[in-house]
Amino acid sequence: MDFNKLILKWYDKNKRDLPWRRTKNPYNIWISEIILQQTRMEQGIYYYNRFISKFPDLKSLAISDEKDVLLLWQGLGYYSRARNLHFTAKYIYSELGSRFPESYEELIKLKGIGDYTASAISSICFEKKHPVLDGNVFRTISRIFEIDAPIDVNGSRKVFKSIANELMPKKRYGDYNQGLMDFGSIICKPASPLCSSCLMSKNCIAYAKKSVNKFPVKSKKLKIKNLFLDYVIINNKNQNLIERINDGIWKNLYQFPVHKSNSDSNKEMINKFFSEKFKLDSIEMELINSEFIQHKLSHLNIKSRFWLVNNKTNISDGIFVDSIDQYPMSKLMHKFIEKYGDKVSIC
Ligand code: SF4
Repeated sequence: MDFNKLILKWYDKNKRDLPWRRTKNPYNIWISEIILQQTRMEQGIYYYNRFISKFPDLKSLAISDEKDVLLLWQGLGYYSRARNLHFTAKYIYSELGSRFPESYEELIKLKGIGDYTASAISSICFEKKHPVLDGNVFRTISRIFEIDAPIDVNGSRKVFKSIANELMPKKRYGDYNQGLMDFGSIICKPASPLCSSCLMSKNCIAYAKKSVNKFPVKSKKLKIKNLFLDYVIINNKNQNLIERINDGIWKNLYQFPVHKSNSDSNKEMINKFFSEKFKLDSIEMELINSEFIQHKLSHLNIKSRFWLVNNKTNISDGIFVDSIDQYPMSKLMHKFIEKYGDKVSIC
């Protein structure tokens, strides 16, 4: 079977007209590849167009304020992607004289660029021979060749990489990589793959053995932990108290002051925590949402409550802002503001 010829033939016929496919500019390809990680295509197109219209080239991103990049990223999640984009744009602009690296080896040294992105940029923009391995490629290859190496184990990456390398065509590396990813996402889908109309069906081992649903193999079931977040809403002279987050997944975003715990805390514990934080004997607080506002991440189930603080005039330390719209915040903050913002004087 000429696997790569079939993929290229399929791609030539079914190539989607996506905004970043109208250029080979590495800046655009880089932005699109980073946005598309963990993001649905429709949402990715929307965010890509917004991002490129605000930051049309490397320089405009490099000289921007990180806060503006995070503001634009709101709703996409995995904010380290935005922080790394900004960092790397500044680095290429100031340290590499705005010259975007062409080789896989140079690209992978950049912050936020791993094996997948380095392979994608070097093959799509510079026709370098590097196979991409994303979820679509893992799934398609594992089914067609019945590869039972678990895809969530580090050592398996080498196995897939070497097979993917052997499958590469002699030219058109960028088209082939994009074709294989598209094929996996449109035909060899995770659930209900389109086997009966698939051009690979005659050569697909898992299809012949009726074992398609067993692939790709995963070894571990991700253990999801609970995290309880209790926020306080403090409004003073029509300004809200917010804090900049120093670490974790929401680093450099903003939020209301928070109490974190791995287990559900009672009102006394929360009150004690905030009283000490604001150097008060006690604070008057009343629960705003009787049911937790939940936010699910791949490894974490976040349950949050919001408390309205009444003895606010005694609290003056911190960042009081007129308009929180100017500050990048997580989806969880926005869920709360959308539902309760009007009721509790969020400005
Ligand atoms: Fe995927 Fe089914 Fe095609 Fe095999 S036959 S490659 S499992 S869609």
